[in-house]
Amino acid sequence: MAGPFVRPAQQTPESSWRINVFTCRNQSCDAQWELSDVVIKNEGQGLLFRCPMCGARNYVERFDGEDGSVLYEQIEGRPAPGPMAD
Ligand SMILES: [Zn+2]
Repeated sequence: MAGPFVRPAQQTPESSWRINVFTCRNQSCDAQWELSDVVIKNEGQGLLFRCPMCGARNYVERFDGEDGSVLYEQIEGRPAPGPMAD
């Protein structure tokens, strides 16, 4: 019988938030990019960048920092702000 599942809090990689590296979601590519390596644009289905290596679409979400800087966080799949014509 398994006991209660306890996840140690120390294992959370907090450094990845500050360094802000994107990983190509194409698993056969798996390249990592910094924000300065990619061009983020909106092709009509939300913000994304195309992997400079393989061209895969990687969706991101935009955040505005308190100091006026613009941050992007990579997200799974694509954003779904509402009904979309696919
Ligand atoms: Zn790629």
